[in-house]
Amino acid sequence: MRAVTFQAPGEVRVEERPEPDPQAPDEAVVAVEASGICGSDLHIYHGRVEIERGFTIGHEFVGTVSAAGEGVKKVGPGDRVLGCYCTACGECFFCRRGDFHKCDIGRVFGHGATLGNLQGAQAERVLVPNADLTLRKVPDGLADEVALFAGDVMGTGYHAIDVLGLEPGGSVAVLGLGPVGLCAVQAARLAGAGTVIAIDRVAERLEMARRFGAQPVHLTEEDPRAAVKGATEKRGVDGAVDAVGHPDALELACRLTRKAGTVSATGVYAERIELHMGIVWIKALTLKTGHANVIKQVDPVLEKLRSGELDPSPLVTHRMKLDESPEAYEIYDRREALKIVLTP
Ligand SMILES: [Zn+2]
Ligand SMILES: [Zn+2]
Repeated sequence: MRAVTFQAPGEVRVEERPEPDPQAPDEAVVAVEASGICGSDLHIYHGRVEIERGFTIGHEFVGTVSAAGEGVKKVGPGDRVLGCYCTACGECFFCRRGDFHKCDIGRVFGHGATLGNLQGAQAERVLVPNADLTLRKVPDGLADEVALFAGDVMGTGYHAIDVLGLEPGGSVAVLGLGPVGLCAVQAARLAGAGTVIAIDRVAERLEMARRFGAQPVHLTEEDPRAAVKGATEKRGVDGAVDAVGHPDALELACRLTRKAGTVSATGVYAERIELHMGIVWIKALTLKTGHANVIKQVDPVLEKLRSGELDPSPLVTHRMKLDESPEAYEIYDRREALKIVLTP
């Protein structure tokens, strides 16, 4: 089968790989019909994630189960399924608490040996451990390229808002309008936010946030702090999402949030950064961090996608073939695309 493999920083290649076979009773094989290229794939592409040369990448996928071990009960051959970006055991201390994203033996698709040695989904087929927990049937009528968002990007935007604990009519600021930020805007509106301030410096992204029901604010050509004050009787927003993963965004998120509010640090942080703890402390902010618990959120997210209450389809800017993936990564790297969907 064909698979997209990492070769060197800035180089991916489509190569032949052996067909995966379910070995353990809990495993399934999915024939991938659509896979996504994601911001975290770009970390790999740039060589910021340690990964073996020739490893198959990709962690967002929709397809049809082609084989399943005898222990797999919830899905079977012929079922159209959506995969979560990671797996979990379902039995450890953290899984029993529902913290599937912190599973002691959790693995992430397409991220090399350091994250569980699980070959990726930008391929014709993918091997799925613990298939009953990792996969979900795709509701009838839901397009592949929409369902795809449930396993990572929309799951993450939804989680970022969920942890804010918004009350009806509440206010939110979303910093950074990449795919996760734009999904967070939709999730905030769905959660009942009365005011969503969406901050970025790319005109098209601000315009899309406006279409999703937010008040767009240009980071540098406008004054985000003044905009938030104007929309919240000078209090600050109830909750803010840093969907960038940059110290400046986190600091601004803390400054825009009202006293006793919540900041969701959703963007990826891998390094030591400085944060003005005095601001966090004096305002009594709650800081929520970490990966999204996508396995926990995937059922409600799929249901909201099915009903159309969440609709990330405008985010799909490019549809390309698996064989075109080197070009697709170049396009994504130039930030010319929001979401690229690859099909076999
Ligand atoms: Zn992703
Ligand atoms: Zn576990």
